[in-house]
Amino acid sequence: MRIAALSDVHANLRALEAVLAEIDAGRFDGIWCLGDLVGYGPKPNECTALLQERSTVCLAGNHDLVVLGKIPIDSFVGEAAAAARWTQTVLDEGARRFLGALEPQAVTPGAELFHGSPRDPVWDYVLSDESAASALALTEAPLVLVGHSHVALEISNGGELRGEPAPAGTQLPLGGLRRLLNPGSVGQPRDGDPRAAWLEIDFGAAWATFRRTDYPVERTQAEMREVGLPEALALRLAYGI
Ligand code: ZN
Repeated sequence: MRIAALSDVHANLRALEAVLAEIDAGRFDGIWCLGDLVGYGPKPNECTALLQERSTVCLAGNHDLVVLGKIPIDSFVGEAAAAARWTQTVLDEGARRFLGALEPQAVTPGAELFHGSPRDPVWDYVLSDESAASALALTEAPLVLVGHSHVALEISNGGELRGEPAPAGTQLPLGGLRRLLNPGSVGQPRDGDPRAAWLEIDFGAAWATFRRTDYPVERTQAEMREVGLPEALALRLAYGI
C-alpha cells in the first residue's frame, strides 16, 4: 500500500494542484490529509472540495475548527485571525458540511494520525524533544503522523529519542524504530523551502520519503491580493517561512 500524506494545505489551491499532479503520476492507493485545509490562503472552497473528493482519510485542524466557529476566533491573533474572519465570510455550505464532520485524529492501518499530537490533537506543536517523547509515549503505534507545525520533521525512538528536520529526498526505513513524522505543509511551508511539502509512505517496501513539489507561488500570491488577504501572508510563501 502506497500512501501520500499531506497536511496544512491552507487554501493554497495552486500548491495542492501541483502535489495532486505528482501523486497522480505515481501509483498511490490513498491520500491522508492531516488537517488545516483552510485559513491563510485564498481558495478555501476549492481546496476543501478537492480534498473531499481525493483524500481517503482527512482530519480537522485548528484553523478549520476556528473557521467553523467550533473554537473561538479570539484564540488567533493578527494575520491568522484576519484570514480566518475572511474565510468565514466566503466558506460555502458544502465546505462547511465536510469540514464540520472531521475529527483532529484518526487511526489507519499502519499508523495513527493527529493534526497536533497525541497529547493535544488540535493545538500541540511537536517541535521539541519533550513534546516528541510525550507524543510517542501516549501511543503504541509504530508510525505516528502529525501536522500543524508546517516543518517537515522526522523523530525516531529506538531506546533513544532522535529528531531532525527532514529536507526533500530524506528517506527512512519503516518497521524497525518507532517513527513520528511530519510531512510539512503543502500550502504554507515554514522550514525555509518554499516548495509544497508532502510525504510518500510505501508500507509494502517499508520506506517513507519526504517530497517537495514546485508550484506557481506568484499565482497564489496574486489570488491572495485579489481578495485582500494580509500582504505578509502572501510574502512569506516566497521564502517558505
Ligand atoms: Zn496549519
